[in-house]
Amino acid sequence: MKCCIIPDDVLKKVKDKQSLEHSQEIREIRAAQVVLKKASKVPIPGDHDEVRVLYDSHNTKILNVAEDNIIEVDYEQEHKNTNSSVELEMFDKTYDFFLQKLGMESYDNRDAIWRIFMHYDTKYNNAFWNGQVFVFGDGDQLFFKTFWIQDVCAHEAMHAITEYVTQLEYKGQSGALNEHISDVVGICLKNFLLKEGEQWNWILAEGIWTPIIQGKGLRTFTLEPAYDDPILGKDGQPKHMKDYVNLPYDKKGDFGGVHINSGILNHAFYAFVYRSGKKPFEEPLNVWWKAVQKTKAFDDFAAFAYNTIQVSGELKGHLEAAWNDVGIIPRKKEWTFWDSIRLYLMRYH
Ligand SMILES: [Zn+2]
Repeated sequence: MKCCIIPDDVLKKVKDKQSLEHSQEIREIRAAQVVLKKASKVPIPGDHDEVRVLYDSHNTKILNVAEDNIIEVDYEQEHKNTNSSVELEMFDKTYDFFLQKLGMESYDNRDAIWRIFMHYDTKYNNAFWNGQVFVFGDGDQLFFKTFWIQDVCAHEAMHAITEYVTQLEYKGQSGALNEHISDVVGICLKNFLLKEGEQWNWILAEGIWTPIIQGKGLRTFTLEPAYDDPILGKDGQPKHMKDYVNLPYDKKGDFGGVHINSGILNHAFYAFVYRSGKKPFEEPLNVWWKAVQKTKAFDDFAAFAYNTIQVSGELKGHLEAAWNDVGIIPRKKEWTFWDSIRLYLMRYH
């Protein structure tokens, strides 16, 4: 699965044909195309070791993990913090958050090495997880200022966990659920890092735009649009099922609006936090994470809502009210024989 932070409709609006074509292309890159050579500079992680490697794509589209391309290796034995570059620090904080809140040691829970590429392509307007490595463009500096933002790193890294834990199909409601899970973890880490006394922040990817764009960020969890701009238009994420956007299940349709309809689920999470009065990264995230682990490949919004209710304990009343706020009626989805066939076809074809 190849998951970008910027959906194609936003790229279209900034008329960035180059990044648009590339992001579509990336989704088709097969794992085999990543050149994985053993590099002696990269230590093999033992139990409870963290290894993060930052590579330079040298403004090409090549993702080559050869030693020459290594910018820095951050190696932590037994999770002892070390200092590293700003970019690796963002992934370090993400790793620590995953360990502390989700109990995951790396995305596979087996200390997989995080390989991160920067300076991908020229003026490339996106960041993505391609199923093997994390990739960051520099941004065109005209509209997109940077993708090196803490919650963007966490969003992409969570895609790796979601892929490992759930195998959610990346289209329609299950695809939007996948995007939502990444947004929730990103926003929770952002709030986790706030200083004492600061208010909860519900804007994802703050700082992504250059001053030319009238916007606070890429997405919000509240009813407020993230941007309302002459070039970009207005943030079109719905926050209620009555505004659900039906789009074709193809690249042009954002695979059925996976980056669009995720706004409904994001708003439900926000409503749950406010109704429960809990810190987003504590009980609410914990409920979500438990539900994610119960999630199956073709679960829709109602099925995910059902899963959250099952693990909500004494917060059940607040959670039911939050789902009601966005017009989702929790409903159990039974796994059918047809689902098994679909999963087989999805995996092997
Ligand atoms: Zn995403």
